[in-house]
Amino acid sequence: AADAGEQIALIEVAPPGAPSLAGADRTDRQWTYGRLLAEAEQCAHWLLTRFSPGERITVWAPNIPEWTILQYGAALAGLVLVTANPALRAAELRYVLEQSRSAGLFHTATFRGSDMTAIAREASAGLPDVRATVCFGDWPEAVGSHRETGALPAVRPGDAAQIQYTSGTTGFPKGALLHHRGLVTNARFSIDRAQLPHQGVLVSAMPLFHTAGCAMGVLGGAHQRAAYVLCQLFDPALVLTAAAQHHADMLAGVPTMLIALLNHPGFDRFDLSRLSRVLSGGSPVPPELVRRVEERFGVRFTAVYGQTELSPVITQTSPDDAPEDKATTAGRPLPQLELAVRDPATGRTVHKGQTGEICARGYQTMLGYFGMPERTAETIDADGWLHTGDLGVLDERGYLTVTGRLKDMIIRGGENIYATEIEQVLFTHPGVRDVTVLGLPDPTWGEIVAAVVVPADADQIPPVAELHDLCRAKLAPHKTPARWFTTAELPLTGSGKIQKFRLRDRIEQAELPELTRD
Ligand code: ATP
Repeated sequence: AADAGEQIALIEVAPPGAPSLAGADRTDRQWTYGRLLAEAEQCAHWLLTRFSPGERITVWAPNIPEWTILQYGAALAGLVLVTANPALRAAELRYVLEQSRSAGLFHTATFRGSDMTAIAREASAGLPDVRATVCFGDWPEAVGSHRETGALPAVRPGDAAQIQYTSGTTGFPKGALLHHRGLVTNARFSIDRAQLPHQGVLVSAMPLFHTAGCAMGVLGGAHQRAAYVLCQLFDPALVLTAAAQHHADMLAGVPTMLIALLNHPGFDRFDLSRLSRVLSGGSPVPPELVRRVEERFGVRFTAVYGQTELSPVITQTSPDDAPEDKATTAGRPLPQLELAVRDPATGRTVHKGQTGEICARGYQTMLGYFGMPERTAETIDADGWLHTGDLGVLDERGYLTVTGRLKDMIIRGGENIYATEIEQVLFTHPGVRDVTVLGLPDPTWGEIVAAVVVPADADQIPPVAELHDLCRAKLAPHKTPARWFTTAELPLTGSGKIQKFRLRDRIEQAELPELTRD
């Protein structure tokens, strides 16, 4: 988007009084497209003094503009950017660094009170591939002051651009290897369907480490030469203030964020008269939320259904769709994507109106799971169809409704959480004989994490505080169960699988004893 020159590309928004996480003297900086390109090129040259094209570097940081400069810089240098949630703990980050064989790590000095430098050191200790660790606090002296011009390597549209980790049902997160063409083209189609105006203003608190932030938001915004208002974190007052102050045309957030914005006591104080579109998705969007958002914000809604492995948008509603379609369906496929609904048992395409597994094929499919050919082959079949693990129904007009999931996943506030990962941690407690983790419906988060524990000794149920602390020590905070239950036996199917739906019913009927902290 260099031709946009003086057009504003990026606006930084941080909580009032918060220090810069990138060594700057202020936190309300702005970049034009011209400056963004110049700094990205500078960054690419700096990167090439340390890394070679094709190598992976991990960015483990919250939303800061330097994250985006690094994203573009890595792309220009032909490096693959591995994106990690800043909430990850040392063991989780170590897995990402090791599995992706990252040569570099970029992090902030702090995040939500955590000493990120100490965690980074622990996570990368003894890993031979990690040659350089860069704290964003040192960015101005290191990358920012680098002066070099000249040719950058040739990077092709089909080359690998990013690795994004999606937790696996096996408990080992899988790194979806995404290419430039998939990310850029999908972002373009998605932002066009969402109707972001040319040179409009897009406000988002979506994390950059997901495709929703760094691809749909940043790359989609660039396609429209828009100004991307980057909120460092999600805080309702911060986002509403930013939307009003920068005269936003569009706002993007997961359903949980939209609920928090609508419930903000000062909502009516903000002048959002320029706002005309709201984009959401990443988890089921309740019909009532669509209606409330359209009414209270005075906008037209667009909902996306997607998956990281597909770069990520599969289907999307149009702001012009009929109210009923907008509220109850996930819309129609974006261009150049084939969609099929298959019987998971036979693999045959089901009739319109019948439920099956959602499968997709198109330019946007990931290259594979990095370093995991077997997992890739389980997901992408010989004919190139990617099996999403989601259940859905296609109607005669081509509208998709997502009805459930084959995979054992909880979506809390837009973050995917795999039960297995938490179960494996809880199994290490000596007082736990068996355990299962499941999602329970929640009005704010969509779903919350709950654990059902079978104690090793019926007379000695392990204290919740201990189980809680164990999870907090080993896992990112959002994965720690919010509710705890106990039972003598877990209900099993004939083939020995835990019947989570039965446990959910029993919890709903208040038949399982709930454990509390005291
Ligand atoms: P991002 O990479 O930005 O997080 P994402 O949330 O679309 O994008 P994933 O984190 O990979 O991608 O999560 C994908 C899963 O989330 C889907 O497979 C599906 O189970 C669920 N999901 C996403 N959007 C919707 C939706 N609109 N309705 C129902 N489920 C959804």
